Order: sequence, then C-alpha cells, then structure tokens
Amino acid sequence: MLIKNASVEGRKRDVRCTGECISEIADSLEPLIGEHVTQAGGGELLPGLHDHHMHFYATAALRRSIDCGLRPAVAITGNQPSLPHDAASLRRLLAEYSGDGWLRGVNYHESIAGDLDRWQLDALVSERPVRIQHRSGKLWILNSLAVNLLDLAVHKNLPGVELDPQGVPTGRLFRLDAWLREKLGRQDPLDVSVLSRQMASFGITGFTDTSATNTAATVIQFQQMRERGEILQKSYLMGDDSLDFGHLKILLDEDNLPPLNELEARIRRARAKKRGIAFHCVTHIELLVAIAALNSCNELDPCKQFADRIEHGSVIFDDVLPMLRDLHLSVVTQPGFLYDRGQQYAKNLTPHELAHLYRYQTLLSSGVKVGLSSDAPYGPLNPWQVMESAVTRKTVAGEVIGANECITPEQALAGYLSNAQAPGGVERKVAVGECADLCLLTHPWRELRTDLAGVTVAVTVVAGEFAYAADGL
Ligand SMILES: [Zn+2]
Repeated sequence: MLIKNASVEGRKRDVRCTGECISEIADSLEPLIGEHVTQAGGGELLPGLHDHHMHFYATAALRRSIDCGLRPAVAITGNQPSLPHDAASLRRLLAEYSGDGWLRGVNYHESIAGDLDRWQLDALVSERPVRIQHRSGKLWILNSLAVNLLDLAVHKNLPGVELDPQGVPTGRLFRLDAWLREKLGRQDPLDVSVLSRQMASFGITGFTDTSATNTAATVIQFQQMRERGEILQKSYLMGDDSLDFGHLKILLDEDNLPPLNELEARIRRARAKKRGIAFHCVTHIELLVAIAALNSCNELDPCKQFADRIEHGSVIFDDVLPMLRDLHLSVVTQPGFLYDRGQQYAKNLTPHELAHLYRYQTLLSSGVKVGLSSDAPYGPLNPWQVMESAVTRKTVAGEVIGANECITPEQALAGYLSNAQAPGGVERKVAVGECADLCLLTHPWRELRTDLAGVTVAVTVVAGEFAYAADGL
C-alpha cells in the first residue's frame, strides 16, 4: 500500500506500508506493480487514534437503545422523539417503540421520574420486557416481565440484586452487566460491526475496553470478533482479578468503599502477575483511597510495561498532584463530558469542585501523564469532539468550564496517540518500522487544528489493511 502526497509533521511525504508495518517514507516513492495507491492530496497522515477508555459492548448496544436522558449523551443515537423530563413523558417515549421484544433504555437520571424500581417501571410499560440503565452506568432497572424472563427470583442471592424487606427482587441490579449480557445473549443478540466501522470513520485504530467485568473469555470473544472482521480495531482489555494479563480494573464507589487491606491484597495479587492497576476514581475521596492503597504496596515494583492508571480523575485537587506524579500514574480523562454534561455539572457541583473538574493543563504542567478517551457510551464517542472539548472546554450551550485547564490542539491529539498500555506516555509516530495503524485526514493539520470538531477522516488503516475510506477514495 502506498500513500502519496501526505503531510507528515508538516512535510510532504510518500509512505509505503508492507504487511503490518510502515516500510518506507520518502519525498517521492514510485508505485510497485499491483500496489494500491492512495492520493492523500496533502492531507495530514497521523498514527491511528487509540481511545483509552470505552465500553465496547455497551456502546454497540446503545445504537438500538432509547435515550431516556434529559439530553442525548452520545452523538451516535439515531433520530428519536424528544427526550423525557417526567414520568408521563417517559411513558409516552417508551410507548412510541412498538413491538414485543426487549426495550432497552439508557441515560436515565432520577430527576426524570425518581428512583425507579420494577413496580414503578410496570406502571410505565408492562406489556413487554424493559431494562433501563442509570446514567452512571452502575445500575439497571428491570420491569416485572423482564425480572421474570431473567429468572431473577432464582438468582436473587447474586451480589448486586436489590431485594425489598420481604426478600423480593426490586428489579434494580447494581454492576451486573456481565451477568445480564450472558443471560440476554440469546434473547437479544448484538451486532458490533456497525460500531467498529463508525469508529474507523473517526480514525480510531485501537481502543481499550475498561469494563471491570472483562474476563479471559471476553478477551477471546474480542479476538474472535477481530478474526471474523466484525471488529476492525486492535483492542486492549482490562478486567477482573481472574485475568492473568492486562490491567486490573478496580471500581471505587465513595458510598461503599472496600477496606484498604482488601484493596492492597488485590493490588499485590495483580502485581505478582505483572499486571498494571487501573482505579475508577470520580471523586476526591475515591482518588485518595486509590493513592493510599497504591502507596502501601510500594515495596512491589509497579509493572513498567503497564502503567498504573486513574480512570476519569473527574475531580483532582492541588494537594494530590505531587502524589499522582510520584506514583507515575496516568490519568485517563474524558473532557467530552464537559460538552455533554457541563450544564448539569454547573448546577450540581460546588464552585470548588467545578474549578477542579476534568483538569488537563495543570496535570500536564505538574508532570502527570494524561491519556484521552470517550468513556462511550457514557460520553461522546467521536474523538474529534472530545479533543475539541479538551481545547475549548465548552458545554453544549457554549459556556466555558475551567478556562485555565484548556490545552493546545497538539496536546489534545497527543492524548489519543500514546500506546494502549501507557496512556499519556510516548507518542506513536508515522515512522519506518512502526505499525501501519494510520489515520489520513482530508486536509493538512495546520488547516484543521482550529476546528477539531469539524475534522473529517479520509482513510483509516489498521495493521496495513483499509478499515475505512471516505467516498471517492
Ligand atoms: Zn468507563
């Protein structure tokens, strides 16, 4: 494969890929017999983007989900009726979807119709099975028909199944996504290929699935989906304690924190397997707990290959910055939430929290590594929208949150160019010997850098194979 007349770091270059690698770069290269030639027309050729934090299955499932939120969380949902604001409008919204199969709602928040349980949901929809996910991603609420179809009464002792005082499942399931997916697998199969192709159209050549429920079986499923061509990207999975490789994902929930010695034991077991540690930390307290746990396991060398990470780091106060740096932690952030949920944050957070929300520039200048990501389906999937949010920090209504945390377009791009295992670490380059994971833009970077949300991708290549080509290329 030969890409002619591309802009590589500001210089016109021809780039040849052989097998899975970049084999030659020169001012001019002649096509070989039978070689496919792409005319880049001066478009910028970048290493493919890596989304450092997303939930692939949940994002694929969102494509056929009803957005029950106050406003759309993710730009990939199709046209749908206007969004609900109370129980009556939620009932009307759900009623617009005719049929008799499962209904799947997402992005629900209790400000719409309170803390729903199965009986309240029955009052909204009783004639077909419904599951509605809370916007936090932690909770699913099922109506009674769904509760029965999933034999919840039989499984009521599973951790995460909420019971009423009589021991009857309320239909509220906490952090049981993996169990739900397995139970629903045959009833409600999922097509992942459309999502993968959409990601390719954004220039994404790799992603990290950060779901805490991933096991060795999930890793095999992802490999098989890639072999079958359903997933075009390279995937890197973190997961639960049973995995022997990749990061251990530890979920922290300020309202229900585990004892420190329990966390330390998990870290030690993971370190013994040469795994990195990834802590989900949204609040300041969660971050302090993660740091305390990591600090007390200091005698065990952190894995050099897999940097320990903080997922989200939504609120980071100044006194924590030196600790993040000294522990060599990468923060994997999602400024896309500023765009998407910024107005709600402005209403719900204290001014102090708001001033320390999804920080970026301060992290970089404090020597903390930062990787960029979508957290799709909870945040916007489009990496160019995420980069734009990191640069402008504008909400959907145009207000700026934390102007002193704005970064440059180049810093934003770098957030997507580090390796899967070390977010915010060394930037991948378009260079001979590198993997042929590439993203060709329609124009040179200097023309695009001031409007990242408007960037369009011409061609995406994964491991030397085309994953996407815009019409006419
Ligand atoms: Zn996440």
